[in-house]
Amino acid sequence: MSKIAFLGLGGMGARMAANLIKAGHAVTVWNRSPGPVAGLVAQGATAAPSPRAAAEGAEFVLAMVADDIASRAVWLDGETGALAGLAPGALAIECSTISPAWAGEMVAAVTGAGAAFLEAPVVGSLPQAQEGKLIILAGGDAVAYAQAQPALAPLASAIHHVGPVGRGAVLKLAVNSLLGIQLAAWAEMMGFLGKAGFDGPAALDILATLPVASPAAANYARMMLAGDFAVRFPVDLMAKDFRYATHGADAVKADTPVADATLGVLERAAEAGFGADNVSALIRLYTVQ
Ligand code: NAP
Repeated sequence: MSKIAFLGLGGMGARMAANLIKAGHAVTVWNRSPGPVAGLVAQGATAAPSPRAAAEGAEFVLAMVADDIASRAVWLDGETGALAGLAPGALAIECSTISPAWAGEMVAAVTGAGAAFLEAPVVGSLPQAQEGKLIILAGGDAVAYAQAQPALAPLASAIHHVGPVGRGAVLKLAVNSLLGIQLAAWAEMMGFLGKAGFDGPAALDILATLPVASPAAANYARMMLAGDFAVRFPVDLMAKDFRYATHGADAVKADTPVADATLGVLERAAEAGFGADNVSALIRLYTVQ
């Protein structure tokens, strides 16, 4: 059993923290807004008043928050940030989907303070987080990767060490870009088929059997046609990932015209008021006037 602090109890973080408790770890939790804290305390967690307080005495500190801005606040805030509470020898693990540039800043800040750092972005959504079957793309040195195993194992069906810090962020952003590009294309084509007179579900029954349909895209296309926009992964978070992916690509002079265009589609959806809806709501760009 280890002492673990978990920062950020959103859709993903609350489920991940619950799995650490179930695995027998002593878990202290913190969230910016108080709403989700009581549910974790009822499962056996201890509540902390700040990331810093949560980190004090912990062997592992994990964060699962929205973006770079949230991650910076949670780790580096001068008064309340977790970095100020990290014990020497503790391991900071950032699970949020962040930019490679911010991952680079974080490892410098954490190691400069005498602790160790691993980035551990996750592939999978709410059901996989719930079942402890995420796929983790870890970036960091071999010592930090080995040290992290007791804290990561209860969360994941697979843990890959993909290279130094920054590589995990890049690979995670590539995964989400591959998904988002497909979803933008499927929304567009389902809109086209509808306007051309097809019955969407009947057309999808055929399309889903073809090699061009990935299981993930076909699943999202079903949600699109069913009007199922209940949040699992919202448009706004996908747009954030495309911003980080395209900036990351620019930084290494990689050309990403399709990702650039997909970011434009996601931004149109946000401007149309669908940003907080599940990414399946991209279909509304083509069916709602
Ligand atoms: P979420 O449900 O929207 O939760 C976001 C969390 O970030 C909440 O705990 C929120 O606190 C916190 N937060 C936001 N801004 C903050 C700030 N400025 N300071 C401190 N905390 C802040 O999002 P999620 O779905 O759990 O996603 C979390 C991360 O996992 C994101 O990086 C996302 O891209 C990534 N991810 C998501 C999925 C998915 O399917 N949903 C899958 C893989 C990876 P409040 O409760 O106070 O708002």
